[in-house]
Amino acid sequence: MPSDQLLEVEDLTTTFGTDDGTLTAVDGVDFDVDTGETVCIVGESGSGKTVATESITRIIKTPPGEIEGTVRYKGRDLLAMPESELRDIRGNEIAHIFQNPQEAMNHCYTVGWQITEALQIHQDVSDEEARAKAVDLMDRVGIANASARFDDYPHEFSGGQKQRVMIAMALVGDPDLLIADEPTTALDVTVQAQILRLLDELQEEFDMGVLFVTHDLGVVAEIADRIVVMYAGKVMERGGVLDIFDHPAHPYTQQLLECLPEFGGTTVGGIPGTLPDPHDPPDGCRFAPRCEYAEGACRAGEQPEEIEVSPGQRVSCVHYRPGMDPSVVRNDNFEPVGGDGAADGEGGVSRADD
Ligand code: SF4
Repeated sequence: MPSDQLLEVEDLTTTFGTDDGTLTAVDGVDFDVDTGETVCIVGESGSGKTVATESITRIIKTPPGEIEGTVRYKGRDLLAMPESELRDIRGNEIAHIFQNPQEAMNHCYTVGWQITEALQIHQDVSDEEARAKAVDLMDRVGIANASARFDDYPHEFSGGQKQRVMIAMALVGDPDLLIADEPTTALDVTVQAQILRLLDELQEEFDMGVLFVTHDLGVVAEIADRIVVMYAGKVMERGGVLDIFDHPAHPYTQQLLECLPEFGGTTVGGIPGTLPDPHDPPDGCRFAPRCEYAEGACRAGEQPEEIEVSPGQRVSCVHYRPGMDPSVVRNDNFEPVGGDGAADGEGGVSRADD
């Protein structure tokens, strides 16, 4: 394992027992995060990205959840270790920030009390030391007059300030990996930009790996080093941020980008159609029911194997072969694979290895 690899997730599968049968939220997903880099998991609501990240530290309730696969953090498998051992890592070496700070905070206690409590859970420090550290953390995340605001209650903070407090609480253990799940979704655009800038600065200062979950590719463009695109519990595409924005290969990624006017997208109101029922996903490619390039070969067997189309960029789509032009599915040379129900296509991409 390379020395800078912090997290390595292999074949992660998370299911839930429900009254309607087994729901598979995450289905055989792989990804990794290196020290000091930001990996964004992106996809629509229901794609499985949140469940995947919550499975890493097993904060999914089991039962009804069941988590399988391997999650190696600094070489140790988090899914195989006893809960007592994992508790030392969770909130300490690996910290989470969630979407809604309003719900994550206790409104009966002062903000300072909540940060010091988090500190004293993880560190053997006196009340005075905890207070000094809490004020320092509040200061570092940009809470003005931190010392004076220590005794304020959450309702006395704005939404952006509350998220800064949540970030301060996440930093109490000096984490090596920060998992941030839609941390800016509830904030207005200006505050969102401030929080993203803050996370960027803190990542450098703390030399953390960041696993960032979002449905917003505009946010991804700001912060990602690498991107993992998820759909219906599967990885559709992965690659460096420039690969994904310059030459997105998977039709789903292309359609996500088409929803971004700031990147020239013209789709209004999101991608047409809905995600498949996770109790009964379709055979073949999960995206087939919404894909304009779908044909018979897409609708049989398993999700297509990921194919590397450029260094580090891999795509799960029947239309690709190794090293193939990552834009082939959307350019005029698109050629169907063939089979029942094949989409119409003209011209021909050279596919000598077919
Ligand atoms: S495998 Fe078929 S359905 Fe899936 S993205 Fe590719 S073309 Fe579309």
